[in-house]
Amino acid sequence: MAAKPRSLRWAVVALLVLGLTLAYQQLDLGRWLTLDQLKASRDALQQFYNSDPVWTLAVFFGVYVLATAVSFPGASVLTLAGGAIFGLGIGLLVVSFASSLGALLAFWMARTLLRDTVERRFGTFLAPINAGLAKDGVFYLLTLRLVPVFPFWLINLTMGLTQIGARPFYIVSQIGMLAGTAVYVNAGTQLAAIESTADILSPPLLGSLVLLGAFPLVAKWAVSALQQRKLYARWRKPRRFDRNMVVIGAGAGGLVSAYIAAAVKAKVTLVEGHKMGGDCLNYGCVPSKALIRSAKAVKQVRQAGAFGVRGAQATVDFAAVMQRVHDVVRDIEPHDSVERYTAMGVEVLQGHARITSPWSVEVTLADGQPQTLTTRNIVIAAGASPFVPPIPGLKEAGFLTSDTVWGLTTLPRRLVVLGGGPIGSELAQCFARLGSEVTQVEMAPRTMAREDPEVSERVMASLRADGVRILTGHQAVRVEVVAGEKRLIVRHRDQEQAVPFDELLCAVGRSPRVTGYGLEELGIPLTARKTIETNAYLQTLYPNIYAVGDVAGPFQFTHTAAHQAWYAAVNALFGRFKRFKADYSVIPWATFTDPEVARVGLSETEAREQGVPFEVTKYGIEDLDRAIADGTAHGFVKVLTVPGKDKILGVTIVGEHAGDLLAEYVLAMKHGLGLDKILGTIHTYPTLSEANKYAAGEWKRAHAPQRVLAWVERFHAWERA
Ligand SMILES: Cc1cc2nc3c(=O)[nH]c(=O)nc-3n(C[C@H](O)[C@H](O)[C@H](O)COP(=O)(O)OP(=O)(O)OC[C@H]3O[C@@H](n4cnc5c(N)ncnc54)[C@H](O)[C@@H]3O)c2cc1C
Repeated sequence: MAAKPRSLRWAVVALLVLGLTLAYQQLDLGRWLTLDQLKASRDALQQFYNSDPVWTLAVFFGVYVLATAVSFPGASVLTLAGGAIFGLGIGLLVVSFASSLGALLAFWMARTLLRDTVERRFGTFLAPINAGLAKDGVFYLLTLRLVPVFPFWLINLTMGLTQIGARPFYIVSQIGMLAGTAVYVNAGTQLAAIESTADILSPPLLGSLVLLGAFPLVAKWAVSALQQRKLYARWRKPRRFDRNMVVIGAGAGGLVSAYIAAAVKAKVTLVEGHKMGGDCLNYGCVPSKALIRSAKAVKQVRQAGAFGVRGAQATVDFAAVMQRVHDVVRDIEPHDSVERYTAMGVEVLQGHARITSPWSVEVTLADGQPQTLTTRNIVIAAGASPFVPPIPGLKEAGFLTSDTVWGLTTLPRRLVVLGGGPIGSELAQCFARLGSEVTQVEMAPRTMAREDPEVSERVMASLRADGVRILTGHQAVRVEVVAGEKRLIVRHRDQEQAVPFDELLCAVGRSPRVTGYGLEELGIPLTARKTIETNAYLQTLYPNIYAVGDVAGPFQFTHTAAHQAWYAAVNALFGRFKRFKADYSVIPWATFTDPEVARVGLSETEAREQGVPFEVTKYGIEDLDRAIADGTAHGFVKVLTVPGKDKILGVTIVGEHAGDLLAEYVLAMKHGLGLDKILGTIHTYPTLSEANKYAAGEWKRAHAPQRVLAWVERFHAWERA
């Protein structure tokens, strides 16, 4: 339905352009837009003007606007004519407005006719260009306008395809073209002296205009240099620095930043106020995956009958489960230990770090002694901590978070899990499998809301099968203690309900750690999501202070913290030679519920929201030989591709080992490999990884060239005859 107005728009403009082109050819208008013709007609034109100035001005203005709007050649001759007929003052005035208005119309036509199509096709490619234009577009446009060697019509049309606003486009065009227009109009006043339009821009004049064109960018650079000077002016810069880099926080982001700095022989100090390894090792990925493994073992024992194993019974020794969790953490600890990093050449200090100036960090060591470090660069990798919502009565009743849940030694009989995100869903399923009566409370209409609805459905069904009571669309209102029993009061469609519990686990998100270590004093701004504001190079307000990981966002994963760390460390140490923008084009993640959910790139919901055209190919794992043999024949591989092409836009996998299976698609997306390449790759039989190949096969089947196949069928029939 939407195609009609668009095709109508196309038809109208196409007719207009066609009509004008024909008129241009038939009336041989090009003849009038030559220097010789202008010279020959100058006296006549001036006479017209003298006899009827208003009419001449109006016609000239109209012709100029129209010629510019449809990007006809000859704008320079028309501009000369403006000077020749009206003189410098009026000529400049009329040409300046006519050219800007014509440019605006050309811009508008390109925008109306082509922008949607271009955005649909090249949206991902255009996104950074549009982001750059949104920030500095006015400066770039001004430069392009000031230097008249950039084709006027091309700028109009190209800008129409971007996101730059029509109003700034018009204003900047009017101002930016003024100098060049003045040169041409002035030349028009001395028409007799000009042999060709090329004469107008003599090398020195062109040079001056180029210098003028460079001015906005130079001015912008100077303003930013001045701003930086002002920013740093209130701090005393040390004469020399003890270190090249100080890293605050020894989680994934901090460890990798320090590792890279040491690997390239920089002097680096890593400061950790609590436990080496940060959240991931101590409170996050590692203990949660260890707990998931125990919970899975319980499930497997319970399902043993289905595999012909009789008499298997699971009795959960929760203290032993938690002991195993701690043992796993202890076994992995050496990877992130002080000893390992010291051996790599990193100076590790255990204490609380506080940034006292852009070049100094004060560390309160474990024994209470302060130590001041001077450094050329600082990397903040302070992580995030569990967010606790302000629910009345919650604090008084007591609650667990991902920081404290690992301290449990007895299994809660009744557990409320507040939050339906990945952490809440993983832990709710674990505790249910281990034997708790779990109620998961989520305000949104579904859990795992970041994924497509069908993914949420699968995960919720699986959790329910494990005994989790899921209350979606329920808001936690308050916590009460009645006759010694703790109750969470939840509200659903204006009805309140009490959920009794022994423990309540708060898993409603994690807040970046942004207070108490100097950000406020330095005035380092935060984003709306309360992460530290950084640019694409991960620099904060102070270009020598970087932020990575959970504290910087936009993702809260161990692998993204490590990924950002590379950029921050390299930019900090070598940025004066070459800087790199953090690349977020292919970011995978997984939620380790059973079934696992793994994703890279766009989901269907996101593609729709962003207006990205896509095709969906789905392969059901019910069909996969290995999954059938393993008793895990459920889930799917869903691939989004560019319509008619095998280019992958996004993949969601739901099923056993989805997190591992995803790696093949991450590699493909990162290196621009399409589904054809995956299909053409040998996958070992029988493995779960064949699901990836079969998904590619589904795509291929749907795109089989039916006409060619019909001919091939005829060929075979002919061979048989
Ligand atoms: C239950 C749970 C499960 C998770 N599962 C996964 C998963 O499966 N996969 C995944 O990718 N991610 C997972 N995550 C997320 C992952 O743990 C984080 O994204 C990751 O730890 C972020 O690393 P980071 O370096 O930014 O911060 P952190 O690991 O939080 O490290 C920050 C460190 O900075 C220290 N610090 C802060 N301020 C100071 C200061 N002023 N002075 C000195 N030291 C300071 C802190 O003590 C901390 O050790 C999980 C998280 C949780 C809670």
